[in-house]
Amino acid sequence: MASITLNNIVKKYDDGFPAVNNVSLDIADGEFVILVGPSGCGKSTLLRMIVGLEDITSGELQIDGTRMNEAAPKDRNLAMVFQNYALYPHLTVYENIAFPLRLAKRSGGSNGSNGDSTGGANGGAGGGSVDDRVRKAAEMLELTEHLERKPANLSGGQRQRVAMGRAIVRQADAFLFDEPLSNLDAKLRGQMRAEIAQLQRRLGVTSVYVTHDQTEAMTLGDRVAVLKKGELQQVASPRELYEQPVNLFVAGFIGSPSMNFLPATLKEGAAGFEGSERAGGAILSSPIGDIPISAEKAAVATGHELLMIGLRPEFFEDAQLVDEAKKGKGAVFTAELSHLEWLGHEQYGYIEFEPDEKVRRLLSDLAAEMDADELRPQVVTTLSAESRVRPGQPTDLWVDTSRIHIFDPETGENLT
Ligand code: ATP
Repeated sequence: MASITLNNIVKKYDDGFPAVNNVSLDIADGEFVILVGPSGCGKSTLLRMIVGLEDITSGELQIDGTRMNEAAPKDRNLAMVFQNYALYPHLTVYENIAFPLRLAKRSGGSNGSNGDSTGGANGGAGGGSVDDRVRKAAEMLELTEHLERKPANLSGGQRQRVAMGRAIVRQADAFLFDEPLSNLDAKLRGQMRAEIAQLQRRLGVTSVYVTHDQTEAMTLGDRVAVLKKGELQQVASPRELYEQPVNLFVAGFIGSPSMNFLPATLKEGAAGFEGSERAGGAILSSPIGDIPISAEKAAVATGHELLMIGLRPEFFEDAQLVDEAKKGKGAVFTAELSHLEWLGHEQYGYIEFEPDEKVRRLLSDLAAEMDADELRPQVVTTLSAESRVRPGQPTDLWVDTSRIHIFDPETGENLT
């Protein structure tokens, strides 16, 4: 097992534009780190530089403290698990899993390309006979009864496990996953996600996992690194990313449904209003109405002509279902839901608002920033399943203003 360190890594392709720009990241021994971001953000390029399939333009890659920029892929002892599994269709499951070991034996212990494009210096060494190791890996992956089958006769999830089996038998220092689940249907993806998470924990092997799917990122990793246009935005635990995103991009990318962004201004003459819990606070004027904020939040908002506020869908609730004690932590406002989606365990209520020209421009800038086609002038709220609110009529909703995020719309920085 090994630690992986990236110091100021830059990758420029022929066009000279940095696909990866100055990325520094320390991945501890045994840690599971997810690289996530929209298409083209440079996550695959970063992974390929770690494995050695792509040259590093500048900066340093260390594996277990040793510089590896110039090392051939086979000398890095990393195992890559690809989206398309890279299984040999004419070989059985057993032979597919044994493949890297046999190759290593043939080339005398330090193997060359094994078809995963990466090698494994330990490929043939230690840990018993090839047969022992294949059977042990198969057992771990619950593939024992399928050992004689060909990949064509396996489900997507089983193929995925065979690909992981190949990485396991090689006793690689780290597993690198490049969107391994993106070919699977939603249900299987969920199952495999859980399997990979459990397996990684059981084996304790350092793992780096690339995905564009924020749910995968949140559920798999010890830490998640969010990339945008080649630059690292934030590296943190899933919970920290969700609760304390550093900027608009991370806030909008992590979470589903996404955080709602609303333009707001500090209300003239309302600063320092008297309220038992919020003395010294202020009021923000927003398209869904006035939002009282605490003194602490008012302090960061002061001095900004225009603000962007962020409210997650679950900050909202049907006001009738909120007890008095909780009500005090937020604000009640009246809105009309344009439509309501009932999902069984909860409901999504949508509030639409009419943006003026300035707000329209702000939302379109924000969409560009987020890599989204458009940001609709609407607020998504998740309401309890037992709520009896109806669309098209004035409804009292409660919003937890204590958790509000306040962003600088110019820089995107989270001020709270
Ligand atoms: P995706 O999820 O779509 O695979 P990604 O985040 O993995 O995206 P990369 O594939 O790493 O992104 O690409 C990052 C940037 O580098 C993109 O702008 C891409 O067009 C560019 N790029 C990738 N490979 C090459 C290449 N071989 N030559 C030139 N540019 C490349």
